Amino acid sequence: MQRPIPLTRDVVFIGGGHAHALVLRRWGMKPLAGVRLTVIDPNPTAPYSGMLPGYIAGHYRQADLEIDLVKLCRFAGARLVVARVVGIDRDARRVQVEGRPDIFYDIASIDIGITSDLPSLPGFAEHAVGAKPLGDYTRRWRGFLDDVAAGRVAPEIAVIGGGVAGVELVLAMHHALKTRGAQPQVTVIEARRALPDLGDKTRRALLRRLEKAGIGLIEGVGVVEVCADRVLLSDGAEVASAFTLGVAGARPQEWLRDTGLDLHEGFVKVGPTLHTLTDTRIFAAGDIAHLTHAPRPKAGVYAVREAPFLYDNILAALTGGKPRKYRPQKDYLKLISLGGREALADKFTMRGEGAGLWRLKDRIDRKFMRKFHELPEMKAPALPPAVADGVREMVEGHPPLCGGCGAKVAAGPLRESLAGLKVLERDDIKPLPGDDAAAVKCGDGFQVISTDHLRAFTADHWQMARIAANHALGDIWAMGARPQSALASITLPEMRPTMQRATLDEIMAAATEVFSAAGAAIIGGHTMLGAELVIGFTVTGLCKRPITLAGARAGDALVLTGPIGSGVVLAAEMRGQADGRDVVSAWREMGRDKGPAAALLTQAHAMTDVTGFGLAGHLMGMLGASKLAARLDLAMIPLMQGAEALAAAGVRSSLYQGNRASLALDLPESPRSDLLYDPQTAGGLLAAVDGRQAGGVVEKLRAEGYSAAIIGWLEEGAPSIRLAD
Ligand SMILES: Cc1cc2nc3c(=O)[nH]c(=O)nc-3n(C[C@H](O)[C@H](O)[C@H](O)COP(=O)(O)OP(=O)(O)OC[C@H]3O[C@@H](n4cnc5c(N)ncnc54)[C@H](O)[C@@H]3O)c2cc1C
Repeated sequence: MQRPIPLTRDVVFIGGGHAHALVLRRWGMKPLAGVRLTVIDPNPTAPYSGMLPGYIAGHYRQADLEIDLVKLCRFAGARLVVARVVGIDRDARRVQVEGRPDIFYDIASIDIGITSDLPSLPGFAEHAVGAKPLGDYTRRWRGFLDDVAAGRVAPEIAVIGGGVAGVELVLAMHHALKTRGAQPQVTVIEARRALPDLGDKTRRALLRRLEKAGIGLIEGVGVVEVCADRVLLSDGAEVASAFTLGVAGARPQEWLRDTGLDLHEGFVKVGPTLHTLTDTRIFAAGDIAHLTHAPRPKAGVYAVREAPFLYDNILAALTGGKPRKYRPQKDYLKLISLGGREALADKFTMRGEGAGLWRLKDRIDRKFMRKFHELPEMKAPALPPAVADGVREMVEGHPPLCGGCGAKVAAGPLRESLAGLKVLERDDIKPLPGDDAAAVKCGDGFQVISTDHLRAFTADHWQMARIAANHALGDIWAMGARPQSALASITLPEMRPTMQRATLDEIMAAATEVFSAAGAAIIGGHTMLGAELVIGFTVTGLCKRPITLAGARAGDALVLTGPIGSGVVLAAEMRGQADGRDVVSAWREMGRDKGPAAALLTQAHAMTDVTGFGLAGHLMGMLGASKLAARLDLAMIPLMQGAEALAAAGVRSSLYQGNRASLALDLPESPRSDLLYDPQTAGGLLAAVDGRQAGGVVEKLRAEGYSAAIIGWLEEGAPSIRLAD
C-alpha cells in the first residue's frame, strides 16, 4: 500500500506578486514532494498591472488582468492564506500575519511589490485612492464613471505622480471619459520632473500626447492636501478634482524595517541568487527586492524574469542543491499605452508609436495572463489496470469526494444503518431521534451534546478550524442552548513534529477564539496522524428546554439566517472551476458566528442548522418530526456569491445525488431548486417562527449583518415540500 509522502519542509510565499505567481505555476507542474507551500496575500486575486491602463480605458474586463490566487494555489497544491503579513520573526522562523497566529517557515520568500505613502497625505485616505491595490481603484473608478454619467459629479480628475504609470493611467481615464461623451478636465501633478526614467524623445512624445488630449501637467509642485472636490498644491494653487488618484510615493512597507533584514532605502537587499543578504532562509523578488549586484528600476518584467531562478533556488535550498545566479537585462521594452488602442515603445534609443504597438502589447499581456487563465488540466492519477467491479463507475462516473460536509455519509445509508440499532433507553436522556443534538437531563434543565468533524477543503488550518468550530456549534445553537464545552478531534497528514506543532498552533488558536466567543471552554481532545487533515469537535451546551425539530406549527414562517451554496462553491473550487472571490466569500460566510442569530431565535418553535443533508434534507427532518408540510419560495432563499451560476453550469457536490435520492421529493429541476440538495458546511439556522413575529425577527437578523429571509411557510399536511408559484 503506497504510503502518502510525509511533509518535512514549510515554504511560505509572502505576497502573490508576479514572481511568486509564476513560481506557483511551475510548482504545480513540477512540485517537490514533502513540501507544504503556503501563500499569504490579502486578496484572493493578484493584479497584472501591465493591463491596468487597458482596463481603465475600457479595453479589458477586470477578470482579464486578475490572477486568481485560489485557483493557482489549488493547481500548485499550495494553501492560500488570505491575510496581510505584518512582520517576520527570523529567530523563531515565524511569519507574523494580521489578525491570525504566526505561520512557521523553513524557507520564506517575499514578493509584496511596493506600496504608496500617499495615504499619509492629509485628506488622501478620505478623498483619494491609490493605483494599487487594484481592487480599491477599480471599484472607485467604476463608481466615478457612473456618477459622471448620472451628472452627480463633474468629470474632473487629478493624478498625483507623473511617472510612466501615472501618465498611462491618466491617458486611460481621459479616454474612458471621452468615449462616454464627457468633457474630462484632467491634471497630472508631479513634485519633480515628469517621466524621469524615459529617453528624451520618448518623454517629449508622451508630453505631446498629454497636450494633444488637453491634459494639464504641473511639475515641480507638490500636493499638500486632498479635498473632496479639489487638491491643494504647495504653491497655494488648487486643482479641481472629483476623482483623485495617487500613483506616486512608491515605497516599501514599513514592517520590513523590523525584520532585521539588510535593506536599501527600505527595499530588501538580495544577491544574484535572490537570497536576502542577511538570511539564507529568506528570498525576495519583484519590486520589493533591491538587486545589489545589478540595481534596476521597479518594473514587472524583472519580477517575471526572476521567477525561474527563484523556483530553482528554492528547490536547491530544500534539497541541498546549487543555486543559480540571475543577471537582469540592462533595459527592457517599455510599451506604454496611450489611452485608445495605441501604444508607444521605448527601449534604449529605439522608439515608435501607433496601433501596431498596442496590438503587440495586447498580445504580450494576453499571452502572460493565459498562463494563469488556462492552467494545464490537473489530471487525476490513473487507476491501476485491474480494479474490482464498480471502481471505475465510482471514480469516473462521480465527482471527486468533496471536503467539508460534502464528505458526509448520505442520509439513506446512515438512516438504514441506524434504523436497526437497539440503543439503551435511559431516564436521564431525552429521546430526540434525528435531531441536531442529544439531550441529557442536567439539573433542572438539559445538557445537549453533538459531534461533528470535517474533511478539510482548505489547508489554511486556521480558516478550516474556524469553520469546523462554527459548524459544530451550529447544532448547539439549533437546540437553543448556550455552548458549554468542546473536545477537539484532529487528524493531521503525516508531517515532521515541528510542523505538527505549528499546524496545531494554527488550529487551536482558531478553535479557542471561536469557542471562547461562544462561551464554551475547550476541555480536551484527541490528535492523531493520518492520510489527510480532518478537524472536528464534540460540543456540549446547556438549556432549560431544548428547541427540537418537533415543535413547529402550521402557519409558522420558515426563517433562514444565512445563504446556501457552499457545497457547489467548494466542489467547484476543488476542481479549479470556482472564482477565487466567491470561494473566499464562502469561507467568510461559513466562518460567521451564529451566536447572535441564535439569540434572536430563542422563541422559535422548532429549529435546525442547515448542513450536510442540504436545506431540503434538514427541512424534511423538521417536517417529519413536526408532521407538517412546507411551501418554499425559491426566490426568497439567499444564495452564496457565485452559487447559482455554478449550479447552472452543472457543478454538483459529491453528496448532491445522495441527498436528492434520500428525499424523493417531486420538485421541478432548476439551478435554484437543485441547490436545495446542496450540502452546506457551517450553514445558517433554519427556524420555524410564529408568522406574526417573523418579519421583525428577520429585520433584527439583517441588522446584525445576516442575509436572513423568510423562505417559506408551514402548513397542515403530510411531510413534503412544494414550491410557491
Ligand atoms: C499602471 C501600471 C502599469 C504598469 N505597467 C507595467 C508594464 O507595462 N511593464 C512592466 O514591466 N511593469 C509595469 N508596471 C510595474 C509593475 O506593475 C510592477 O513592477 C510589478 O507589479 C511588480 O510586481 P511584484 O511581483 O513585485 O508585485 P505586485 O505585482 O505588486 O504584487 C504584490 C502582491 O503582494 C501582495 N501583498 C502586498 N503586501 C502584502 C503583505 N503585507 N502581505 C501579503 N501580501 C502582500 C499584494 O496583494 C500583491 O498581490 C506597471 C505598474 C503600474 C502601476
